[in-house]
Amino acid sequence: MHQYIGGERRPTSTGETFEVLDPSTDEVYETVTLASAEDVDAAVAAARAAFPSWAGATPAERAAVLTRAAALLEEQAEDLARVESRQAGKPIRLAREFDVPGTVDNTAFFGAAARRLDGLASAEYSGDHTSSIRREPIGVVGSIAPWNYPLQMAAWKVLPAIAAGNTIVLKPAETTPLTTLTFAEAFTAAGAPPGVVNIVTGTGPVAGQHLVGHPDVDMTSFTGSTAVGRQVMATAAATGKRVHLELGGKAPFVVFDDADLEAAVHGAAAANLINAGQDCTAAARAIVHSSLYDEFVAGVADLYGEVRMGPTDDEATDLGPLSSRAHLAKVAGMVERGRASARVVRGGAAPTGDLARGCYYEPTVVADVPVGSELWRDEVFGPVLVVVPFDDDDEAIRLANDTAFGLAASAWTRDTYRAGRASREIRAGCVWVNDHIPIISEMPHGGYRHSGFGKDMSMYSFEEYTNVKHVMHDITGVARKAWHRTIFDLPGAGPDPREDPR
Ligand code: NAD
Repeated sequence: MHQYIGGERRPTSTGETFEVLDPSTDEVYETVTLASAEDVDAAVAAARAAFPSWAGATPAERAAVLTRAAALLEEQAEDLARVESRQAGKPIRLAREFDVPGTVDNTAFFGAAARRLDGLASAEYSGDHTSSIRREPIGVVGSIAPWNYPLQMAAWKVLPAIAAGNTIVLKPAETTPLTTLTFAEAFTAAGAPPGVVNIVTGTGPVAGQHLVGHPDVDMTSFTGSTAVGRQVMATAAATGKRVHLELGGKAPFVVFDDADLEAAVHGAAAANLINAGQDCTAAARAIVHSSLYDEFVAGVADLYGEVRMGPTDDEATDLGPLSSRAHLAKVAGMVERGRASARVVRGGAAPTGDLARGCYYEPTVVADVPVGSELWRDEVFGPVLVVVPFDDDDEAIRLANDTAFGLAASAWTRDTYRAGRASREIRAGCVWVNDHIPIISEMPHGGYRHSGFGKDMSMYSFEEYTNVKHVMHDITGVARKAWHRTIFDLPGAGPDPREDPR
């Protein structure tokens, strides 16, 4: 399968390819073109060539393309769900009910947003000029996406960029490029000129690095790990481009003593196991009042015992594999090292039997984790819930904020005042109250601190893909303006009949 440049599938200049594996079996699913630096150059050139006409299209014309693309993607929903499930190891239910409908809804949302480039009202703020705001596209955007939600991450990068009149070159993760290619083609089929959306299917260190450092790319938007995000920012700095970063997370899940325990137990299990825990907002650290602690740990462990691991194309499967053998080894290693100082209550191993062919890992609860340890501090990105107790509200908030990340969090309580305090005091880009995970196209997604600073989805992300221009238009018509006296107040200068009377 080839990459997508200038509105067509193109082989690479080097003829090299790489293999996409199905993580549920570890067998080869597809062979894909490996993009070289020259391919990135070609994609950037295609995006640059398409920019003037796309930026010059009316908002209504861009909106029509996005709206048609949403309909085309909906028609292909089942195929997209199947491919997403195979390449990313997602249970088919998750791909059908979350990834694909979320992408279609996002596309429809940005179709509507394309017609709403709002700014401040025009007015005579100085008295002598009419000031107005223009929001203009930035140019060519170079985007890099991760493997955990390949289709949705492509949507979050591409949609606000092109809705605002930019053109884009996106590099999906090398393990999961397939649905991103179908996604890009939908825009050409919907009427976008060739070159508006380009996909290069290469590795991070070669294609990704070249794209970020490219002198003809005006903005970099990156979603991925905090470590690579830092490198991306450093590379982008050399060419002074705008940077938009969505990075890792280690979300706290705070259960106060008045919480609905059944809701908290079910909420923690679902929010920790979604996408096999490979979700940047997944509930990672359960911080539970000591009066509920034992019951909470036992409740989640019992629920984990009911979770069905299985083939990803089986409707009955709840939990799929991790994304790769290397990632499985990373998750298993963190739990093994944690055993010395914490209590593995359930799971903590890869399954045996037929599933051992794939990259499966049992749903795992680790209690009494020492604060400051690796399991407490670092992103596991797997089906592993870490649990610690607390005794008072201040301690709960302190523990919730005891992280370098700040992407998402939740507070579980029936006390509205407590919920209000927790929402204010937890430092994260999203705080849920009595739920954890739901996202909506209208609201922003993005982090604080080491989780990055870009916003995806919503009008906030739309604005990040535009430059703000102030136009200040003189309405007096006088040649010698009052403010010129700061410079031209020369001795002996005669009066000018066109002088500003003030
Ligand atoms: P990663 O950082 O390893 O890779 C992300 C992307 O960066 C891939 O496409 C990769 O090829 C590319 N890349 C690697 N090195 C590069 C380089 N030197 N220059 C340019 N590009 C390079 O992340 P991952 O393992 O694919 O994804 C998991 C991470 O993504 C987790 O940390 C997760 O929390 C994060 N994530 C964050 C969000 C969010 O919205 N904040 C959403 C999804 C995932």
